[in-house]
Amino acid sequence: MQDITKVGIFTSGGDAPGMNACIRAAVRTALYAGKAVTGIYHGYQGMIDGNFWEMNSRSVSNIIQLGGTILKTARCDAFRTKEGRQLAYDNLKAAGIDGLIAIGGDGTFTGAEVFSREHDIPVVCVPGTIDNDLYGSDFTLGYDTATNTVIEAIDKIRDTAASHDRLFFVEVMGRDSGCIALNAGIAGGAEAILLPEKNTAIEELCKMLEGAAKGNKSSTIVIVAEGEANGGAYHVAKEVKARFNFYDTKVTILGHLQRGGSPSSFDRVLASRLGFAAVRHLFAGANRVMVGLWGNEIRTTPLEEALGNKAFKLSEDMLEMMDVLSI
Ligand code: ATP
Repeated sequence: MQDITKVGIFTSGGDAPGMNACIRAAVRTALYAGKAVTGIYHGYQGMIDGNFWEMNSRSVSNIIQLGGTILKTARCDAFRTKEGRQLAYDNLKAAGIDGLIAIGGDGTFTGAEVFSREHDIPVVCVPGTIDNDLYGSDFTLGYDTATNTVIEAIDKIRDTAASHDRLFFVEVMGRDSGCIALNAGIAGGAEAILLPEKNTAIEELCKMLEGAAKGNKSSTIVIVAEGEANGGAYHVAKEVKARFNFYDTKVTILGHLQRGGSPSSFDRVLASRLGFAAVRHLFAGANRVMVGLWGNEIRTTPLEEALGNKAFKLSEDMLEMMDVLSI
């Protein structure tokens, strides 16, 4: 057991739908146990600035359905320095905060890992990022909602693409992870998917498109993850157009709309379970761990292990299925 009297909660890195549901769960779990809770605005930057909010159970009313994060988020370079982390520690201590819940991605976890080794404030992390790229959880908060947003967009693009017999390139988020692209591509019936994990040459893509053209398809959609090797949707579209002039090509970059919106039921339930579990583990003595979903169980994984392993492994079976189903 760890004698925590006041829990500090913050969100950091990119925002993701479900962060608010997680804040709500963590705040109420701590209050239920008779502990005080402080919200820290703008992630690590808020620790350095002493930007704190004393929270009660009404502070998190009516937020379970909201996208974004009521605690705001930020990237903070000062926290990467020892001096910055010392300042953060001094402010947390002065506010009486003796345990932390961090909601964010791998950068946030790295900051938490370094900070909790240097200072005597334990940290439990919750995976919150639309990329679904964290080892230690089958799913991260926001991924399900973001993928559904992408599918909704693909469906709409399909309507107009089919009406004009067009070829669309739809760029989705994923600098290093193709998880959204692969799953949204399969669920949206895409003809081809370009992923950061797999180098697909333009010639190879053209072969796939040739097959689609021969199959008399009325529309063709190629999902392009932003981090794929050819340089993004505009570049790929230009290269394809240069080879297949008969195609009427269009590009749509989905961009930041993938981050927003009301979290899906899956993300709300996952957020509630992870927020609840994170606080319970913190009170039970956990430090430098993340909570995550394994099958249908919530488990902890040491941050060091989580950060040292790659999460999303491209499934060759899924890729083969994709080729078969898109004939
Ligand atoms: P996303 O996956 O959505 O990008 P993230 O948590 O990975 O989220 P980052 O911007 O990579 O987002 O990291 C968030 C913050 O964590 C950084 O702005 C910085 O303050 C802190 N951080 C990242 N790496 C380190 C590090 N090596 N040492 C200390 N702090 C770090």
